[in-house]
Amino acid sequence: MHDVAVVGGGPAGSRTAALLARDHDVVVVEEHRRSGTPMQCAGLVTDDVIKLSGVKPDILSTILGADVVFPDGTVVPVRSKGPIARAIDREDLDSKIAGSAMDAGAEFMYGTKYISHTVSDRVSMTTSSGTVESELIVGADGHSSAVARSIPGSRPAEYLRGIQADVSVRMEHQDRFRVYLGSALAPGFFTWEIPCGDFTRVGLCTSWSAGPPMDNLKALLRKVGAEDRVVGLHSGKIPLHQRGDTVADRTALVGDAACQVKPVSGGGLYLGLTAAGLLSDVLSDSIRDGDFTKKRLSAYANDCDKAFGSELRKGWRLRRMFVRMSDEDLNAAGRYASREDVRAALDGIDIDHPSGVVADVMRHPSTVLSAIPLMLRCIV
Ligand SMILES: Cc1cc2nc3c(=O)[nH]c(=O)nc-3n(C[C@H](O)[C@H](O)[C@H](O)COP(=O)(O)OP(=O)(O)OC[C@H]3O[C@@H](n4cnc5c(N)ncnc54)[C@H](O)[C@@H]3O)c2cc1C
Repeated sequence: MHDVAVVGGGPAGSRTAALLARDHDVVVVEEHRRSGTPMQCAGLVTDDVIKLSGVKPDILSTILGADVVFPDGTVVPVRSKGPIARAIDREDLDSKIAGSAMDAGAEFMYGTKYISHTVSDRVSMTTSSGTVESELIVGADGHSSAVARSIPGSRPAEYLRGIQADVSVRMEHQDRFRVYLGSALAPGFFTWEIPCGDFTRVGLCTSWSAGPPMDNLKALLRKVGAEDRVVGLHSGKIPLHQRGDTVADRTALVGDAACQVKPVSGGGLYLGLTAAGLLSDVLSDSIRDGDFTKKRLSAYANDCDKAFGSELRKGWRLRRMFVRMSDEDLNAAGRYASREDVRAALDGIDIDHPSGVVADVMRHPSTVLSAIPLMLRCIV
């Protein structure tokens, strides 16, 4: 019997496995033939994410800023003196984290699909390759987590739809990306064009209610003159705002399975990898003490709340506000964000901890729009 069975060999699952396998018997069940494919990511991360991953992914570009384009065409440039993010090779990141887990001693069962599990004096998991037994199960199986469904009431409040094309176009400026806001291209979210050397990632997310986003992507590709330059296409879902528990007896969720995603930007890697570190500490203690109860595992949920609960709650409030904004509201926000004093507050970005900017922005008198710069800052 294994100490821990992790379902999902994405970044959150593999990092949890890498940290636990140093001292414990860990197995990872992953339905695909390898980690990192199919890729569902824009690959924009901070250096903190790279540190948290424990590996060195290939970096395709270093980002110093963004041009945010409002529905009326107003462009608000946001610039930083230092790198605010890196565009990375996401497949490479995933496969390197999985490699580090294997190096630490974790066993990977690739091509094996989790079907269900029962909890008694142990976890007994039914998979496409037979039964796997363990003391604990970790659901790191992404946005549509089947493990999460075993915890009554555990589900996202909302899903976003994401779609992205890799296009064989080299962006003129390799140190900044472009974002379009507005209902024509990305109802309920935003678009992105991210320089990656000889190619560009062109994508967008939309609110679920806006329907399948393929037509929006085609419109965006037309706008940027890249409709006939598509070399790769990816799509995915982003779960927002966890409802219900992330732990139960012998069970814990991490990463997208626990909706550990920033509601304003859709970025999940920073939170998922932070949570993987917190989870591995709590599970190690629980194995040491032979205590696998929900009460004991709640320490993980509490640690996550301390680490990023407030940031997530603020982000969710901003998201609720954002989805209610019309294009006219966005244009007004664009005019506000164009002001020199507000722009100054937007420069020098930390995309993993956006709430730090609130105090600066709130000093401005235009209180009605005072949260918009924060949103812009979160977006980039
Ligand atoms: C279009 C798009 C762009 C994004 N861009 C960014 C970005 O720029 N920066 C950022 O930080 N985040 C971004 N994200 C979010 C980010 O990709 C996720 O937050 C991240 O992948 C979550 O990692 P994870 O390990 O929790 O889940 P996943 O990466 O989804 O991994 C889950 C794993 O579980 C496996 N699995 C699922 N079900 C089963 C099963 N039944 N049995 C066995 N295995 C199973 C899957 O095959 C997968 O390998 C983006 C998401 C989308 C959709």
